[in-house]
Amino acid sequence: NQHEQLASLDQKHFLHPTTSIKQQQATGPDFIFTKGKGVRLTDIKGRTVIDGMSSLWNVNIGHGREEIAQTAYEQMKTLGYSSCFATFSNEPAIQLAAKLAEIAPGNLSATFFTSGGSESNDTAYKLARHYWMLKGQPKRKKIISRSQSYHGVAVGATSATGLKPFRDFTNSLAPDFCYVDHFSPEALRQMIEREGPETVAAYIAEPVQGAGGLHIAPDGYFKEIRSICDEYGILFITDEVITGFGRTGTYFGVDHYGVAPDMMCFAKGVSSGYAQLGGVMISENMHNDFKQLSEGTLLHGYTYSGHPTACAVALKNLEILERENLINNARVMGEEMLKGFQKIQSLRSIVGDVRGLGLMGAVEIVKNKETKERFAEPFAPKVVAEAAKRGLICRSVVFDGQDTLVFAPPLVINSEEMNELISILNDAIEAVETGIPT
Ligand code: PLP
Repeated sequence: NQHEQLASLDQKHFLHPTTSIKQQQATGPDFIFTKGKGVRLTDIKGRTVIDGMSSLWNVNIGHGREEIAQTAYEQMKTLGYSSCFATFSNEPAIQLAAKLAEIAPGNLSATFFTSGGSESNDTAYKLARHYWMLKGQPKRKKIISRSQSYHGVAVGATSATGLKPFRDFTNSLAPDFCYVDHFSPEALRQMIEREGPETVAAYIAEPVQGAGGLHIAPDGYFKEIRSICDEYGILFITDEVITGFGRTGTYFGVDHYGVAPDMMCFAKGVSSGYAQLGGVMISENMHNDFKQLSEGTLLHGYTYSGHPTACAVALKNLEILERENLINNARVMGEEMLKGFQKIQSLRSIVGDVRGLGLMGAVEIVKNKETKERFAEPFAPKVVAEAAKRGLICRSVVFDGQDTLVFAPPLVINSEEMNELISILNDAIEAVETGIPT
């Protein structure tokens, strides 16, 4: 059978990203997907599941958009690729940069394009440090990031990542990264004082931490952060790789907090995964400084920076996002999702905290609802397996003793599909709950 044939080739030849090699060797891939439509994916065995994670938090406009395929086809037919180095440019990249300046928070006005979130993060750190060199403050090198943060897997991005297991995967990291408690502005101030403000280039944060377990910053947190950064003259970078492009019910995650960063990393939702694209935006002030102070060449560029097909796809993606009012839908459906979680919380004995912002949501598994005590072994991975059997893809986070389920369905989800998601989740949790010996 086709699944088995492919699975055996997969085991022999495919080194998967973020995968347990032992498990891959033992079982092969569970799902070999062949089709996607809206919020659903179908595998080679003909099983259809709800993609409760928008795959990797990225397929914001949902699967199977013919309009996007048509756009990519037209662009590839006329100009599939050309370079943006030196004096070269192309129309989709120019139009996308202009569109981003229109929708981005504050006065972010110029974009450096990459192929994804990790490249965006490494780019942001390099541009921030280069900026301080231009400004005559070359000692400003340190990048402060937060506990529980995830910024990607390039060497810089891994070094900035607060989740220790990602850093421990490799035994040599980039220098000049420091980590601060994710919810405490005071801890940031203390760290800046301890390190010396004249050595700090930038502070970076995800508006809502995704991979680290879906942690939503308290109201007012980013206002305080913004003012601390201003006080010490430190660049404030937001990593909107997950939270950008409608995910949280506003265009960007920081829009909830009424602040604007000096730099912003993005990827994922900019193209809803239909093409590999990311970027870093910088403020108009920074851009002006670059224009005035830069003498030599900006020696940072990827072959695919400003890829015309990827940019054309992104432009079409943003057009769909706006035309179909999907950001508003994310807000409305996000409220329904949270209500659904709360209902499950009242029904199930092993559900502790539930939380969400737009279509980013989390459900915590606990041993004791009152004390929030956790089980010795996490149960969220078992819920994920039970949910998959019943037709729902979601994810578990077990870093640092967490036992959390996270969700990020496509922004096109409707009430009926949301009810289905909630009902499968409830059944999956019930199945796990029933199997726990009392
Ligand atoms: N930053 C954040 C906040 C992310 O969630 C991710 C990926 O999940 C990245 C950066 C890395 O992006 P990529 O996987 O596209 O390199």
